[in-house]
Parts: sequence; C-alpha cells; structure tokens
Amino acid sequence: MPQYTLKQASKLLQTKQISAVELAQEYLAAIDVKNPAINGYITLDKDLTLAEAKAADARIATGNATSLTGVPIAYKDIFVQQGWRSACSSKMLDSFVSPYTATVVQNLLDEGMVTLGRTNMDEFAMGSTNETSFYGATHNPWNTAHTPGGSSGGSAAVVAARLAPAALGSDTGGSIRQPSSHCGITGIKPTYGVVSRFGMVAYASSFDQAGPMAQTAEDCAFLLNAMAGFDERDSTSLGREKEDYTRDLNQPLKGLKVGLPKEYFGEGNSADVQTALQNTIDLLKAQGAEMVEVSLPQTELSIPAYYVLTSAEASTNLSRYDGVRYGHRAAQFGDLEEMYSNTRAEGFGSEVKRRIMIGTYVLSHGYYDAYYLKAQKLRRLVANDFQTAFAQCDIILAPTAPTAAPKIGANATPVETYLSDIYTIAANLAGLPALTLPAGFSSDALPIGVQLIGNYFTEAKILGVANQMQQNSDWHAKSPVLLLSN
Ligand code: GLN
Repeated sequence: MPQYTLKQASKLLQTKQISAVELAQEYLAAIDVKNPAINGYITLDKDLTLAEAKAADARIATGNATSLTGVPIAYKDIFVQQGWRSACSSKMLDSFVSPYTATVVQNLLDEGMVTLGRTNMDEFAMGSTNETSFYGATHNPWNTAHTPGGSSGGSAAVVAARLAPAALGSDTGGSIRQPSSHCGITGIKPTYGVVSRFGMVAYASSFDQAGPMAQTAEDCAFLLNAMAGFDERDSTSLGREKEDYTRDLNQPLKGLKVGLPKEYFGEGNSADVQTALQNTIDLLKAQGAEMVEVSLPQTELSIPAYYVLTSAEASTNLSRYDGVRYGHRAAQFGDLEEMYSNTRAEGFGSEVKRRIMIGTYVLSHGYYDAYYLKAQKLRRLVANDFQTAFAQCDIILAPTAPTAAPKIGANATPVETYLSDIYTIAANLAGLPALTLPAGFSSDALPIGVQLIGNYFTEAKILGVANQMQQNSDWHAKSPVLLLSN
C-alpha cells in the first residue's frame, strides 16, 4: 500500500523509480481495498485516471516535466473537471458531468498532476461532518464509527488513509481545516482572492476559498505554488505577483511572536484539545518563539454573523438550480411554478433547504437591516480585531475545533453543530489565511489539530512555521493505515 508524501512521490517519479502509470495503479488498487470502509471517494474513473498518467509519463520522457508531473491528487466533489461527474455531493447535480474545468484544477493539470477521483463532502459544502452528503456519510479512517469532519471530509479521509498523497478542499468557514484536524493531516486556506473560485461550485462567494490538504506543510506549499494566481474569470481574484510559498520553509522560529487569543483558550475546549495546545506552545517555545496574549473580543458573535451572511449568499447562489439549465428536474409537475418547487424539493437535502430559507429570510424587506446589515458590520469588527492582534504578534495559535471528531449519527442539533465552527469561521469572515496541522491525539485515539492564523498574504510564513514544527515533531507522520488493514 502506498504511503508517500507528495514530495516522496515526486522524487520517485523524477528519479524514474516509478512511472506515473504504476503510481496511479498503486493508488487505485489501494482505493479498491480500503475506500468501501470509509466512503471517501464517491467518483472514480480508472480510464480517465490512467489516460492522465500515461500523458504524464510521455511528458516525463520528453524531459519537460515539473516536480508535480505524474503525482496523483484527489479533488473534493465541489471542483468541476471536464469529463468528470462533479455533483457537490447533491442529488441536484447527481447527473452533472462538467463541460469545463475549474481553474485550480486546470493549474494542477497543466503541471501534469493525475486525477484519482472526486471526494465526498457535505452537500454543497454545508456542514461539519460529511453526513449531509447525498452519497452517504464518510467514515473517519482512524475510527470508522466517527465522522471525518466536514465539509471536505472525503478529501481529509483519503489523505489520512493514504489513498492519495494530497487533495484539494474548499473552505467557507473551516471546511479545509476542521476535517484536516479531525483526520490528522495538514491543510491551508489561503487569503481570500489568492486562488481562483472559477469552477468551484459556489456556496458563499465572499467566503469560499480553495486550498491544498496533504500530510505536511511542505507539500501544501508545493501545491499552493501551482494553484495560486490571478484569474480573469473570477471577479474577486487578486492580481498579485507570483509568490514562492516555499520560501520560508527553513526560516528558524527564534523571536517569532505567537499570539494566543484569550477567548480561544477557555472552558469550551476538551481536555485533549487543551493538551494539544499546550504541547504546541512547548514545541514553539523550545524553538525560541515567544507567546503573547491577544484578544479577539467578537469571537462569540462571529457565529451568528457567519451563518446569517453565508446563508444569505447561499440563497442567491443556489437559485440557479431551477430544473431548467442543468441538474435534476422533477418528473412530475403541472405548471412552471410547480416544476421549480418540485425540482428543488426533491433535489436539495434538508440542511441546504434550511440555509436557503434562513438566507431568504434575512435578505427580505424588513429584516435586511436587522440581520444582514448588522452581520456585515460585525464582519468588519471581526476583521478589525485581527488587525489589533497582529499589531502585537506575527502569527496566531488557536485550536482548530473544540473537540476531536464526533461519532456518526451523534444527532447534534443544527445549532450545536454550528457552534463547533467557532475557531475557524473568523478567518473566513476576515479573509485571512489559516492552516491546521496535527498536534496530538484524544484519549480515544482520534487526531487533534491546531491552527495557525496569519495576517493577509502571509501564507509563506505560516507554512514555514508549520514546517519548522513538523521538522521537530512527528504527529503528521502518523497514519491509520495499519488500523484500516485489520
Ligand atoms: N461548517 C461550516 C458550514 O457548515 C463550514 C463549511 C465550509 O467551510 N464549507 O457552513
């Protein structure tokens, strides 16, 4: 069974110890054996995968390869790719085979990366456990009775189970970081606007960002280098100079000022999460970093602000699923009005409907000022809090989630589930880059991650800090592969 990091896979290909086709076949064989237990991949197409691998081998033979050529990768079902079904884990798009390719996927295809398949997720990226998927729940490879987190739970699970060296996820309010934390891998959400949203199914457009998920921060940096860049087809894409996100990987941590937000270190965290945070603080201090207490006073109010704003944006974004243009259409209806309503009643699951209704309500006349406008103002205050904090520190250390992964079917109410997003949503409200990396295990042997939040455009710095931590610890090297083969 393959165990490679992206860097290791790249080296094997470059030194011709393995061909891209052989590597893809190794992964496909492992997927056949292990995927049924975790339901991480929901769409596989061996012919498409092997055709891409063959093209990568041809490119390697011409001497025209990059370090990513031939390296396999998995895509969250939210990224469209020509010829692949891209359903966003919804019945609404169950039959949708994309006629075009998302920019971030195209950027990786241009490098010669090989698509392994599409990974399970919460329907339309709304959720924190992967249980809202039309294709059934994903199981956490560390303990299949537990969720992998969400919404990029399938991507996190397949990387943790070593069924892909890396994957892409999307993060509207934590969906790269929280499942990465729950599955024991590393993932980063870039500054808003750094990577293109074109071809990534929209949930809440002013929050959504794509990002890499892999075993190590170093691997994430390689991927971000290939993914990032201006795209004229995304109106909020930033026209910035190309950056090298690997440039700070070897930067020592001496003198680094790490902010600890006092609101994040309270009683809401499980004892296991507190231990992981303390171990991280010790690790950082041992390398010469200094801890400073900072404050993010709007922390509690960021949850209602997030759910008002993202539901509002979702309600307009999802109005396009009307049974006319593409996707599901109800078989039975009398008139046009009934066609719309039957289509949407059948095509969307209950969490998606709940958010469309909340969003429509907060945008309606009479409630707009009371909810939507107020939430927009809070969003600004949350962003201001971070600027005050970053005047005192270089980077913020935070929990990623208050607990380890919950059990499947734990039956939390929607609001209880929303509350568990408390540490991740602020970065999306403010548009800041944030990374999670493994930092320990719970008493029942589930992984726990911690989060590094940076100021705008400091991806290279937070990847560098995470890499230094990973050079001096081995949480990221642990995998549940042996557990899965029992
Ligand atoms: N759990 C959050 C939500 O349900 C985050 C989802 C996301 O980042 N896509 O909205």
